[in-house]
Amino acid sequence: MKILMASSEAVPWAKTGGLADMVSALSINLANLGHDVRIVIPRYYPIDRSKLKLLPDAMGTPMGGGIQEWSAVYETVMPGTSGKNPVKVYFIDHEIFFGRDGIYGNAIETDFIDNSRRFTFFSRAVFQLCRKIKWYPDVLHAHDWPAAVAPVYLKFAERAAGSSGEFKKTVSVLTIHNLGYQGIYHKDNFGYAGLGWDVFYNGGFEDWNMLNMLKAGLYSADKINTVSPNYARETMTQAHGFRLDGVLRYRNADYCGILNGIDTDVWNPTKDKYIPETYSLENMAGKVKAKKALQKEFGLHEDPNVPVIGMVTRLTDQKGVGELFGPTYGSAWSICRDMDLQMILLGSGEYWCESETSGLASRLSNFNVRIGYSEKISHLIEAGSDFFLMPSRYEPCGLNQMYSLVYGTLPIVRSTGGLVDTVQNYDEKTGDGTGFMFEQLNPSSIYNTVGWAVWAWYNRPKDIKKMQERGMTQDFSWERSAQKYIELYEATFRTQGIKIPKGNEPDVLEIAAEKPKKEALKETPNKEKQNKDTLKKELPYKELLIKESPGKEALKKEPPKIKETAAGKTKKSEPDKPKKTAAANTKKSASQKTTKSAADKTKKKKK
Ligand code: ADP
Repeated sequence: MKILMASSEAVPWAKTGGLADMVSALSINLANLGHDVRIVIPRYYPIDRSKLKLLPDAMGTPMGGGIQEWSAVYETVMPGTSGKNPVKVYFIDHEIFFGRDGIYGNAIETDFIDNSRRFTFFSRAVFQLCRKIKWYPDVLHAHDWPAAVAPVYLKFAERAAGSSGEFKKTVSVLTIHNLGYQGIYHKDNFGYAGLGWDVFYNGGFEDWNMLNMLKAGLYSADKINTVSPNYARETMTQAHGFRLDGVLRYRNADYCGILNGIDTDVWNPTKDKYIPETYSLENMAGKVKAKKALQKEFGLHEDPNVPVIGMVTRLTDQKGVGELFGPTYGSAWSICRDMDLQMILLGSGEYWCESETSGLASRLSNFNVRIGYSEKISHLIEAGSDFFLMPSRYEPCGLNQMYSLVYGTLPIVRSTGGLVDTVQNYDEKTGDGTGFMFEQLNPSSIYNTVGWAVWAWYNRPKDIKKMQERGMTQDFSWERSAQKYIELYEATFRTQGIKIPKGNEPDVLEIAAEKPKKEALKETPNKEKQNKDTLKKELPYKELLIKESPGKEALKKEPPKIKETAAGKTKKSEPDKPKKTAAANTKKSASQKTTKSAADKTKKKKK
């Protein structure tokens, strides 16, 4: 298959989050399966042109109002791919739109005023690029709102009656990486798209009289998916749908979730270059060394006998940082004050959170923070921590919990989105599970669940060891996810009534030219019938949605025991040995009387 990834980000060139990792990793893995995969992204100012190959001649892209946008096109090959299946990467170099610092905005202007135009142009330029290189994809795979208008162009311009026909057999898939970002702008921008005003309504752009780029993509793409099965289900509910749950329910038959993989070359304790010593399940000495190095790096007491809770995150509301670090109400202060643990944070983001966590670090001896972005330190945190905390408000997939599992670091997570698909809650009776989960996002749930995890660390070391082993042997490889994307592409061809391309077939343009005209004319009614038939047969696609929900099922059977807290466990645990539990290590303070802590509640119950 010929697959074109259209994205605003791809590592190693442009990254603000997991999208960039996913686009490159998926492309590489699809290429490894024998497909011809190419990526197109804008060429932003920091991307060094001298390292890329300039394609001859400028490229013109016709936009609304008779505007012809001129850009250069650069090409390179994805590092690590070459030989038989290289992933070619194209850069659309439009100086006015992309020759600036920042992908979507900068410190002064967080959302560039012309973002609608920048990315509408990009979505249109994708087709001009294909014409320029005379390569027409079987699958146009667009990612998130910045590329979401590309499927709209495919449906309403490139595949519509009267089009030049090169994309007649191209199908589109749109992946939602984060429904919270939709690209909503004033509808005055729509004229620039060069699509008729009927498409403003029929194509799904209209959103309370504004222009919504993601919504248009969700309406128009042949299939849509998101990055975990559980997030797919959640986004169809009002609570998690960011006002687009209705659109997603409407597209339910064409919507599924496929769990992201992780880069097992980079995130692998047996070959990690950033940690003092690699380690594996058979020899965990490297993890002990990593913990010592981490404690040293963060200026904490180098003590192997105290559990370390690590965090690497964007400091934004989505990640639950309000409930954890919010001034006066966040639980981080009580956690660090009451429990015998150390807490470490690496992150950057909202100013209030950066300053609040820095303030906390100056007042607490067992908490420290590093504000900024560091690949090296993030690896050290994954390897050196005993637990990894992710109290996310919502989490489309989440990568860090998967990194944590394979590094033998137990995740403490809120049961939302992809976290449900990847972490199994601890069961005290059987010792089963791979992490600790809570349902409600509030300061006391975080407090209680951290307390529970720390209690288990001090009191149930055998269970902790077994959980580590389970996590370290999980398969989060991209090979598995890439195979599911192939199934999704195949399902898309079936619903569109297009033959699934096999191997290196001739370009669709050549196929169209070979067909006698009569045949082509007959195609429409047959196609409709075929669509219905194939919809019925579409088992593999539907299975993607239905089968992948072990996490949720597990949760139903075994709800997270957030009430049984550190303190509760102290009383229950064997009385003969002096237990070094979170509660046992509770530092008594006056403020504890006013804090209705888990410890207080449990004590009252016992009376
Ligand atoms: P999101 O894309 O919502 O930020 P993900 O968990 O999907 O969340 O991916 C975030 C990625 O960015 C992870 O690889 C994480 O380790 C990395 N990351 C986030 N903040 C930092 C930071 N301050 N330093 C290093 N890596 C970071």
